[in-house]
Amino acid sequence: MVLEETKFLMKKYNIKANKSLGQNFLIDDEVIQNIVNGAEVEKDDIVIEIGPGLGSMTKILLERARKVICIELDQKMIKILHDRFIAYNNIELINDDVLKIDLDKLIEDQLSREQNIRHVKVVANLPYYITTPIIMKLIESNLKIESITVMIQKEVADRLIEIPSGKNTGAITYTVYYYCESESIGMVDKSSFIPMPEVTSEIIRLKLRKEPKVKVKDEKVFFNIIKSAYMQRRKTLLNSLTNMGVCKNKEEAANMLEKMGIPVDIRPEKLTIEDFAKIADYLVNL
Ligand code: SAM
Repeated sequence: MVLEETKFLMKKYNIKANKSLGQNFLIDDEVIQNIVNGAEVEKDDIVIEIGPGLGSMTKILLERARKVICIELDQKMIKILHDRFIAYNNIELINDDVLKIDLDKLIEDQLSREQNIRHVKVVANLPYYITTPIIMKLIESNLKIESITVMIQKEVADRLIEIPSGKNTGAITYTVYYYCESESIGMVDKSSFIPMPEVTSEIIRLKLRKEPKVKVKDEKVFFNIIKSAYMQRRKTLLNSLTNMGVCKNKEEAANMLEKMGIPVDIRPEKLTIEDFAKIADYLVNL
């Protein structure tokens, strides 16, 4: 049904998918159900949908949630969503860039207006060109959200939901793991969209932890060490720590690693989040 609706709306409003806005519209009912079910949306939840587009998923979300707040950059889509859902009183449309909007204020305002809200959840088929900055903003801003269920490019998903030191680990893996418990909900074939993207997609769910995975003395130092180590991921940690100027020389770096029980010839991608936490705390105390 969603395929016919999408074709109908694109024709009626003379829409050509805007590539530069990452517009790939979902045309598969089952995938939409999988995303909404994966998000475990219930009637007392507020859902923030990023990039609702023509509203294929919005329609299901409106039936399930107390309220759906749609943040969409393309004004043409806002007009369509407005016409399409005029009969609903639980939708709010915001024509803005999700990366620029003050999400904390938006959520606080909603929570002060609505009574007995269970959770605030983010649900989206994200525009792929800005997947990472959107997810980073959502997890690093200390927002009152319970979970983020999104469809993204599979290669990015692999990295985000990996357990640090697993084979797909990158610097970003540690950040996601620090803030969230993550899970794959399923793969989605290219044929589920128009226009068809070049890549396979994956639905993932990130649940925000109540407390970060590890306690560190200084988050800035902790994340800086991880980022710097991964900028030279082929080098041993010992070399990176020396090159970065974190340690005066290799001897001092080796000394530090030995004290922490970390092998001196280890490469960054073999380090667990606890290892990086130990290193960061050691350096803060110097
Ligand atoms: N949710 C729709 C669906 O599944 O068919 C559309 C998904 S499409 C992959 C991404 C949507 O994000 C588009 O509607 C696009 O206009 C919107 N978008 C792109 N950049 C955005 C931004 N910075 N802020 C908010 N929305 C954005």
